[in-house]
Formats: sequence, structure tokens, C-alpha cells
Amino acid sequence: MLQLVYVSTARSSDPIDHQVILDHARRNNRRDGITGLLYADAKRFLQALEGPDAAVEATFARIQADPRHRAIVLLSCRQVEAREFGDWEMAHLTAASDRDALVERIRSLVSRATPAVRGTFEGFAAVRRAA
Ligand code: FAD
Repeated sequence: MLQLVYVSTARSSDPIDHQVILDHARRNNRRDGITGLLYADAKRFLQALEGPDAAVEATFARIQADPRHRAIVLLSCRQVEAREFGDWEMAHLTAASDRDALVERIRSLVSRATPAVRGTFEGFAAVRRAA
């Protein structure tokens, strides 16, 4: 199966409703056999998608065309034997008031990912914590 990780920047100056994105994503992902993790705060998204190759590619094509974000950079795209981000239709992390707890939660969610992917998420969380 395919695993893909990208980062992007929220486009609108108006606050984006993460719950709307999540509800839609989870519904589609359940249908398509896709799981993963979405980190979202006021400015940035970092998302991992895992699932059947064609489904992940089609989902990423829709995500790339979504006007709610821009500057999408593909960080990693690789074949994996088993899901590394668990069975979540889309686990959600946001910039919580307890940022140490956020970093800990990220660590636990990405613990089965490769060192490179794990480093991406942990580094991102640390940078966003400092932002
Ligand atoms: P429709 O519901 O028919 O949507 C049609 C169009 O409307 C699309 O072009 C869509 O971009 C746009 N649109 C829908 N709602 C809004 C809105 N509130 N504001 C502006 N434009 C809107 N989708 C998934 O299926 N799985 C994911 O994991 C996933 N992750 C996402 C992560 C991020 C950071 C973002 C921004 C979006 C994500 N999406 C995800 C949504 C994805 O970009 C598409 O909007 C969605 O897949 C389209 O679903 P649909 O085919 O049912 O189209």
C-alpha cells in the first residue's frame, strides 16, 4: 500500500473550520480504505495518508485541488507493508493549549513510522510549538 506525507499552508485569512475538513475526510476515507494523521493549526497542515495506491493517489489529487490550502509540498511517498499511522480514518492533532501533551501524542501516533517520517512529524510539532 501507498503512504504519502505532505505539508501545506492554509490559504484563507479567515479561520478554517478543521472539523468540516475532518468530517468530510473521514467519510471519504472510510469509503476508500484510507487512514492517516492530520496535524492542523491556524497556518499549517501536515498530513499522512495510507491505503490502496489508487485510492491514495485519487485522494491526494482532490486535496491538491482544494482551495483551502496552498504551497503543498510532498515530503514522502513510499510503499509500506502495513499501516504505520494506525487504523484512524484520520487522526487529528491541533495546536492545543497543552503543547507538551501535543508533542507526546504525536510521538505515540507516529511511533511505528520510519525514523524519517517520525522525525518529520516530531520536528514539525516542535517548530509549531515554538511558533
Ligand atoms: P465535494 O464534497 O463535492 O466537494 C467539491 C469541491 O468543493 C472540492 O473541490 C472541494 O475542494 C471544495 N470544497 C468542499 N468543501 C469546501 C469548503 N468548506 N470550502 C472550500 N471548498 C470546499 N478529503 C478526503 O477525502 N480525505 C482526506 O484525508 C482529506 N484531507 C484533507 C486535508 C486538508 C488539509 C484539506 C484542506 C482537505 C482535505 N480533504 C480530504 C478534502 C479534499 O480536499 C476534498 O475537498 C474532498 O476530498 C472532496 O470530496 P468530494 O469528492 O466528496 O467533493
